[in-house]
Amino acid sequence: MKEPSLPGTSLQRACRLLVAFCALHLSATLLYYLAGSALGPPRSPEPPLRRPPPANASQLLSRQTPPTDARTRPRPRPQPVSPSPPLPLPPGPCPEPSPLLVGALHVEFSQPVNLEEVARINSEVKDGGRFAPKDCKALQKVAIIIPFRNREEHLKYWLYYLHPILQRQQLDYGVYVINQDGEEEFNRAKLLNIGFTEALKEYDYDCFVFSDVDLIPMDDRNTYKCYSQPRHLSVSMDKFGFRLPYNQYFGGVSALSKEQFTKINGFPNNYWGWGGEDDDIYNRLVFKGMGISRPDAVIGKCRMIRHSRDRKNEPNPERFDRIAHTRETMGSDGLNSLSYKVLRTDKYPLYTKITVDIGSPKS
Ligand code: UDP
Ligand code: MN
Repeated sequence: MKEPSLPGTSLQRACRLLVAFCALHLSATLLYYLAGSALGPPRSPEPPLRRPPPANASQLLSRQTPPTDARTRPRPRPQPVSPSPPLPLPPGPCPEPSPLLVGALHVEFSQPVNLEEVARINSEVKDGGRFAPKDCKALQKVAIIIPFRNREEHLKYWLYYLHPILQRQQLDYGVYVINQDGEEEFNRAKLLNIGFTEALKEYDYDCFVFSDVDLIPMDDRNTYKCYSQPRHLSVSMDKFGFRLPYNQYFGGVSALSKEQFTKINGFPNNYWGWGGEDDDIYNRLVFKGMGISRPDAVIGKCRMIRHSRDRKNEPNPERFDRIAHTRETMGSDGLNSLSYKVLRTDKYPLYTKITVDIGSPKS
């Protein structure tokens, strides 16, 4: 039996057709959209480069910006503009003088020092007593060399006071304590030669500061770095009434560049016991045509921790005779005749300790 043709039937059919057409259109649009986003550029920017940009950094940069020719894109489509992060540039040179300096400092030795606390306060100092400023490139790479035997208490004060100062001076530095092994007569200058040699095996230092363990600067403007002439830093010591004991005095703390140090064949190896080696060094510098650079008497103020004469560091009776012959001896006594044995190297949080066998006056 034939159904009676209702008047709404054709209308229903037309509606179904319309719905089907709409669905088709929608899915086509969706397909097209999905295909488009698969071909498009990544939405998230590339991670920033960690290394300083190479010479062709501009090419790298331009690669991150969209191409100008729209025809190269599958379909022009408005994109959310994600600005490419700027490439980190290598830090520029540290300003001079360092803006972190504070000037005169209060220095005293009444409170005992806890090294663990000193290490905590100086958390930026790396193992072995190494530091470099993060935000700028240090002007110099400085190895600080300390001649040492049995002065643990003094070393604690030195580390407590010097690490914050050296960081404020924005130096790329390392601290090397050269520890004389055994009971032989002490030999300060030979230990300093060893410090120079050993530090250079570790890093490309360009400046060497030689410091007694018991001397603390009283002003952080007295920068522990090198100058065009060899530098004497401890010019105004409390034990000498804040004056130079004599004009040629070069003891305590001094700074020589690698070139200045090698030019004089380093320091003498033959001064056993106390005294004379600093005057020999002064002679060497003068004989090689160099002069002494110094801070003024205010900036150059420093304190020495009071102490009595150490065992096996009695005044050397040969010193007067030796300093009278520097000119003849300096060519054959120094870096070119240095012999020693490293017994052990200890990396502590605030310094590197190198224990050495340096022989004896007879050997
Ligand atoms: N020194 C040391 N142990 C010694 C003798 C000397 O560590 O037994 C080191 C230490 O760094 C000291 C430096 O050599 O500061 C110079 O010796 P001293 O302090 O006796 O000389 P002075 O006080 O007369 O300048
Ligand atoms: Mn001393």
